Amino acid sequence: MRLRRAVVTGGAGFLGSHLCHRLLQEGYEVVCLDDFCTGTSANVEHLLEDRRFRLVRADVTDYIHVSGHVDAVLHMASPASPIDYLQLPLQTLKVGSIGTLHSLGLARDKQARFLLASTSESYGDPLVHPQPETYWGNVNPVGPRGVYDEAKRFGEATTMAYRNAREVNTTIARIFNTFGPRMRPNDGRAIPTFIGQAVRGEPLTVAGDGSQTRSVCYVDDLIEGLVRLLHSELAGPVNIGNCGEMSVLDLARLIIDLTGSSSDIVFVDRPQDDPTVRRPDITLARTALGWEPQVDVRDGLRRTIEWFRELTLTPESVVVPQQSQVPLLVSGVTGS
Ligand code: NAD
Repeated sequence: MRLRRAVVTGGAGFLGSHLCHRLLQEGYEVVCLDDFCTGTSANVEHLLEDRRFRLVRADVTDYIHVSGHVDAVLHMASPASPIDYLQLPLQTLKVGSIGTLHSLGLARDKQARFLLASTSESYGDPLVHPQPETYWGNVNPVGPRGVYDEAKRFGEATTMAYRNAREVNTTIARIFNTFGPRMRPNDGRAIPTFIGQAVRGEPLTVAGDGSQTRSVCYVDDLIEGLVRLLHSELAGPVNIGNCGEMSVLDLARLIIDLTGSSSDIVFVDRPQDDPTVRRPDITLARTALGWEPQVDVRDGLRRTIEWFRELTLTPESVVVPQQSQVPLLVSGVTGS
């Protein structure tokens, strides 16, 4: 019997690496395409021994070539944390636009199911709360975050156009804040930043007065939602995220508590256009996919803290996203 085959762009990133692992467990062959601008081959090192897994260094904004059959294309590639996309603004715009066009072209050629990893940032700083998929959002296109938000919104529009005009079997996941092992300690997102600071006994830097809210989802739950969406016939967009909303200040306090740290909290300037509230309405995922998060946020944080403690949390461990740091060659073959 022919093995199902999936192409995962950005498969060496935080979410992509968990997704590759899960797709292998589901019985897929997996071709992982990554340019390592914010990801690393270390994230998928444990998969390299599996003959069904191929890791290929490729910038999907150049071109994508994969020979043989492909049943699913999951377009995860994009810088995702504010620090990353502010440092890589043009790459972010290109991977959300040109990279999405190339990934959709591959799905069209192979008659594969296509999944776009979109984001709750499509809602911008929302004026509707919680956010249902029917809400169009409140995005500042010319603010610093516009490079990410608008690239994703362009990606969503392109995906719908390929569905309607080119008959590609597409779907769109709007992913809300997700955390777990393999996040980079220095990627600037609240959870890795707070854990690193708490573990090192440094003050936790809370933006603004910390009253802005986030709803954070453990990575295993998120991946389960993506796989169910892939295997459904939904076009989306579908919100995938945890509804357990908390203030950033409470999140910082919880991390101090769970790490047993004696760190203080200090307040720093809030970034421009930082969303004030964030909570998904997951009615659609619940009813159409039978999906909802299973992992309690405290348990997820404990698992993440454990993983972070095993890392050397020194400034030298910092991975700076720069094109020049892309390794020359990684094992595996191209799909050709
Ligand atoms: P990440 O930075 O860890 O992973 C992104 C991966 O894409 C990296 O491995 C990077 O090297 C790769 N990449 C970037 N540009 C590329 C290009 N041109 N060609 C090939 N590879 C490229 O980020 P993540 O948190 O794992 O996010 C994965 C996807 O999920 C992104 O599309 C992101 O927008 C989306 N998302 C994530 C979250 C979250 O909370 N983690 C929330 C919403 C949406």
